[in-house]
Amino acid sequence: MKDKKALIIGSGIGGLATAIRLSKLGFSVHVFEANEFAGGKINSKTFKNYRFDMGPSIFTEPYLIDELLELSELKTITFDYSLLSESCRYFFADSHSFTLPVGKKEVSSKIAIELGEDEKKVFSYLDRMEKNYTAVAPVFIHVSLHKIKQLLNKQMLSALKRLFKYGLSSSMNKVNTSYFKNPKTVQLFNRFATYNGSNPYETPGMLNIISHLELNKGPALPKGGMFMITKTLYDLAVQLGVTFSFNEKVERILYSNNRATGLKTAKGDYSSDIVVSNMDVHFTYEKLLNDFPFHPKKILAQEKSSSAVVFYWGIKKQFKQLGLHNIFFSEDYKKEFKSIFETKEMDDDPTIYVNITSKIEKKDAPANSENWFVMVNAPINVGQNWDEIVSATRQNILKKLSKLLKTDIESIIEVEEVMDPIKIESLYSGKQGSIYGNASNSKSAAFYRHPNFSKKLKGLYFTGVTVHPGGGIPLALNSAKIVERCVKDDFEL
Ligand SMILES: Cc1cc2nc3c(=O)[nH]c(=O)nc-3n(C[C@H](O)[C@H](O)[C@H](O)COP(=O)(O)OP(=O)(O)OC[C@H]3O[C@@H](n4cnc5c(N)ncnc54)[C@H](O)[C@@H]3O)c2cc1C
Repeated sequence: MKDKKALIIGSGIGGLATAIRLSKLGFSVHVFEANEFAGGKINSKTFKNYRFDMGPSIFTEPYLIDELLELSELKTITFDYSLLSESCRYFFADSHSFTLPVGKKEVSSKIAIELGEDEKKVFSYLDRMEKNYTAVAPVFIHVSLHKIKQLLNKQMLSALKRLFKYGLSSSMNKVNTSYFKNPKTVQLFNRFATYNGSNPYETPGMLNIISHLELNKGPALPKGGMFMITKTLYDLAVQLGVTFSFNEKVERILYSNNRATGLKTAKGDYSSDIVVSNMDVHFTYEKLLNDFPFHPKKILAQEKSSSAVVFYWGIKKQFKQLGLHNIFFSEDYKKEFKSIFETKEMDDDPTIYVNITSKIEKKDAPANSENWFVMVNAPINVGQNWDEIVSATRQNILKKLSKLLKTDIESIIEVEEVMDPIKIESLYSGKQGSIYGNASNSKSAAFYRHPNFSKKLKGLYFTGVTVHPGGGIPLALNSAKIVERCVKDDFEL
C-alpha cells in the first residue's frame, strides 16, 4: 500500500511520463483527463480507412521512452521504432527538390551537391551543433534551471562558455547566414526554430542545436505510428497501478497554508500530498488557481509560441516523389514569420509540411492511397476570422502543391478534417492555440519559462511543453524527469 498520493492534471506525454516516474517513486498516482482519450496532442483518429496521428509527427530522442520502459521493469510491454535514414524531403519555390539524409557526413555531402555549400563547412557546423548540444543539455535541459542544487553541476562552466560564445549574441538566422552562402541552406537550417514554435529571426543562435537531433542523430518512427508513444506510456502507467479518470476535467487546485492539498472536479474534491499540472501553465493559473494571489505575471505575459492549421487529407493516389516528412518552402521566409509573430495573419505563401505515415505504415491508408497530414505554422488566435483564414489557406496550399506535384490535388482528396488554433485551444487547452506555451524569441526566454515546481505553493509541480525545459516531445519527457527529481528532493526520497 502506497502511503503518499499524487494527483496529475492531464494525460499528455508530460503527464504520462510523470505518472510512471512518481509511481516508481512510491506514490499512488491518479491522473485526471478532460478528454475521453489519453495522450493529449499525441492521439490518433481514423477517418474512412485513413489513420492519422493528429499532432506530433517528428520524433527524436526515442531513448527517453526506452528509459521509462527500463524504469518500470515491466518486461511485457515493448516499444518498437525504426531510426530513419532519411530526415526530410525538401521542395523549394523554384521547383528544386532533394532528399536530405541523416548523419553529419551524409548531410554535408548532400548540401554541398544540392546547394553548393562547402562540404567541410557544413560538417563543421553540424559538429559544432553536436558539441553545443552536449555542453548545454546537462544544464539547460536535464535539470531545473531554478534549483541551485541541480544547476551547479560540473558541466555548468562549459555550457556557459558555449552559450556566450555561440548562442546569445546572434539570432538563429544571423548564425546561419554567417555560415552559409546559399539562402536556401539558411532557410533549411532556420526551419528548426519552428520545432518549438519560435521565430528564426528572433530566437537565439543556440537554438540551432535542434538541428543536431534531427540531422546528426536522426528522427525515429514508432512502429504503428506516433500514437504508439501514448499507448506504450499509458499501458506502462496502468500496469504500475496508476488510476485514470477520463472525461473528468479539473476545475480547481485546492490549497491551504501555502501548500497544494488536492483538486476539485465536477465529481468532487480529491486530496493528495502533491499535485502535478500537465495543463498549459497559463490556464493552470488562469482557470485552476484564479483566486490564488501570486501568479507569475511576468512569465505568463511572455510572447506565445506559434499555432498551426492542419488538414488531414485522405488522398486517393500515391506520390513517389514524397516521403514520410516533406517540406514545401515559402519564397519569402522572413515575411512568413512576420505574419505569424507580428501581424498575426496567415501568410498567403506559407511553408507547407506534409507527413505521410502510410509511406512506412502501409495500413494507415487504403491501397494506392496516402494519408496526408498537411500542416502550416499559424499565428495564435487573437480573434481572427479562422473560417476565412482556413478557407483561403486551403486554396493557397492546393495551388502550391498542385503546381509542384503536377497534379490537381483537390480532385483526389477523399477524406478531409481540419484543425485550427481555436480547436487546439479547446481540445488541448493550449493558450490561444499556442502549441508550446511561451515562444523562445529572446535571449532571456529560457529564464521566463515556468519552473517545474511552484515557488509559492509547496507540493505543486508542472510538467509538459509549456514549462521548463520547453517545447517538443523530448523536452516534455525531460520535464517529467525534472519533476521526479524535485519531488525526490522535497520528500527526501
Ligand atoms: C499539430 C501539432 C503538431 C505537432 N508536432 C510536433 C512534432 O512533430 N514533434 C514534437 O515533438 N512536438 C510536436 N507538437 C507538440 C507536441 O504536441 C508536444 O510536444 C507534446 O505532445 C505536448 O505534450 P504535453 O505533455 O505538454 O501535453 P499536451 O499534449 O498538451 O496534453 C495536455 C493534456 O492536459 C489535458 N488537460 C488540460 N486541462 C485539463 C484540465 N483542466 N483537467 C484535466 N485535463 C486537462 C488536455 O486535455 C491534454 O490531454 C505538435 C503539436 C501539434 C498541435
